[in-house]
Amino acid sequence: MKQNLFHELLHAAHQVYSRSDALQKFAPWPSELMYVDKPEQSVPAVRQIKRWADTHPLHIATQQVAEFGNWKQTYTEDEVGFGFLQDYGYLELYGPDGHFQTYEGRAYIGYWGRGLYYPWHRHEAEEIYSVVSGCGYFESQGTEPALLTAGDTRMHYSNQPHALTMRDGPILTFVLWRGTAMAGLPLMGATSSLN
Ligand code: ZN
Repeated sequence: MKQNLFHELLHAAHQVYSRSDALQKFAPWPSELMYVDKPEQSVPAVRQIKRWADTHPLHIATQQVAEFGNWKQTYTEDEVGFGFLQDYGYLELYGPDGHFQTYEGRAYIGYWGRGLYYPWHRHEAEEIYSVVSGCGYFESQGTEPALLTAGDTRMHYSNQPHALTMRDGPILTFVLWRGTAMAGLPLMGATSSLN
């Protein structure tokens, strides 16, 4: 049952991938993806995700696995505050530590709640965001900021500082990582280097 739900999630993510030139250009779809029974690990935002109605197949598939997800939060309360941790979470769909194990790439499903500000940060791995549902205001150093909605993508090169602000509602994103530093975690505090 649980395994089927994750296969549906993977399938819905692959549908998004196969309809997006930007995602396909960014990284190949891994040739080997082995399902791993990861421990269920919840975050408060799972309740929001389950209540948020949207018809996108990847949105629905995410809701269906939400309670079984191995949800993560990179940041501590000291870094982002208590409120942020109530309204945010991501799971690794595939990757070295994903629900599907592979060493060929990394894919995440990430959620940020309404009104949240995800401060400037950076990481060594290159990444591309694809908006599944909702919208967010994407800022990246050296690129025009833009309000992105379902189907829009935004790429960040290695260590390019970026920030994300949710406005009228939450956002659900499908994110791919590539590069030698794929295992690195996002680093906060890039703001100082921007001033
Ligand atoms: Zn990032």
